[in-house]
Amino acid sequence: LNRRLAEFGTTIFAEMSALALRTGSINLGQGFPDTDGPEEVREAAVRALRDGRGNQYPPGPGVPELRTAVAAHQERRYGLVHDPDTEVLVTAGATEAIAAALLALVEPGDEVVAFEPYYDSYAACIAMAGGTRVPVTLRPHEGSFRLDLDELRAAVTDRTRLLLINTPHNPTGTVLTRAELTAIAELAVERDLLVVTDEVYEHLVFDEAEHIPLATFPGMRERTVTIGSAGKTFSFTGWKVGWITANGPLVSAVRTAKQYLTYVSAGPFQYAVAEALQLPDSYFDGFRTDLRRKRDLLGDGLRAAGFEVYQPQGTYFITTDITPFGEKDAYAFCRALPERCGVVAIPNSVFYDDPDAGRSQVRFTFCKKDDVLQEAANRLRRLA
Ligand code: PMP
Ligand code: GLN
Repeated sequence: LNRRLAEFGTTIFAEMSALALRTGSINLGQGFPDTDGPEEVREAAVRALRDGRGNQYPPGPGVPELRTAVAAHQERRYGLVHDPDTEVLVTAGATEAIAAALLALVEPGDEVVAFEPYYDSYAACIAMAGGTRVPVTLRPHEGSFRLDLDELRAAVTDRTRLLLINTPHNPTGTVLTRAELTAIAELAVERDLLVVTDEVYEHLVFDEAEHIPLATFPGMRERTVTIGSAGKTFSFTGWKVGWITANGPLVSAVRTAKQYLTYVSAGPFQYAVAEALQLPDSYFDGFRTDLRRKRDLLGDGLRAAGFEVYQPQGTYFITTDITPFGEKDAYAFCRALPERCGVVAIPNSVFYDDPDAGRSQVRFTFCKKDDVLQEAANRLRRLA
């Protein structure tokens, strides 16, 4: 393994899902739904396979049907207009979008400012691009995690090339507010920075929270790469269909990198996702209502079991603190959890440069059937 990747071993998600399998535990670690997305979308994939659409290399930027559907979705929901031919790129999940964007836009030695705790692929992709990550830590404040705008401003130097933003945020469930996004946009414009914004949880927001794409703010459309994913929006994490939207030159840059990563993304699923993006609002509303109920079910269970719970406004994750149990080491806690009560979770400490910062935080996912969440809650009460 080269020096750039030396600090990256097996991802925590693979490690913890293997632990769940080995111990037969309820897996509330890795974020994948235990109910597949809509039947009609699965049927669309079967039809595409059967009709021979996408069984051979599809076009590099993605099939026209999907690029058109992505552009229509961005316009319908957010009023963002993109040319499907030059301003949309289909990727092998959001994971490839993140990698290709960083490889295409970061020069060796550039600094990339990203929130901490961060989704694990950010650190690895910044490293592969030869960049230096500069974390800005989200900190607990009145029951949820918040961004300190002064810290963000202070993190930007003359070497900063790019801000890597994630809202709704994995793992904390924080949804950036209009005021926070305004400040980020002003900073990006003032310091002439590129922005890559991972908005894969755009449809998973609850209560009063609203997802507002960063690209909608003044001066942002031309400097922002926005990332979406069918894995999250339609509960098909196994299909690995994601996309970016941006202006022509940025899409063209990211496409150059994508060509040599995967060349193209799997064909038949692209046709199915194109249909999914045209589902009526009732699909998106129903999905959100369902997840909100699951959030409350698991949140109540975790509180009853004795965890300190940070209420998420978005995503399908709940970050907790294990200090009330008299424990401090999330990693050790998660490794022992299957034996103690038959549940698997993720230690957030691995999402920090300074593991001490998140040492006592544990993340649980609630994208599971209600009875599974209820059973997990019952089991977790054994910790008391
Ligand atoms: N970004 C974030 C914040 C995520 O949580 C995930 C899901 N694991 C991804 C990107 C990757 O998405 P995909 O499965 O579409 O590659
Ligand atoms: N995004 C999901 C999570 O955070 C899983 C991603 C993965 O397994 N790489 O749990």
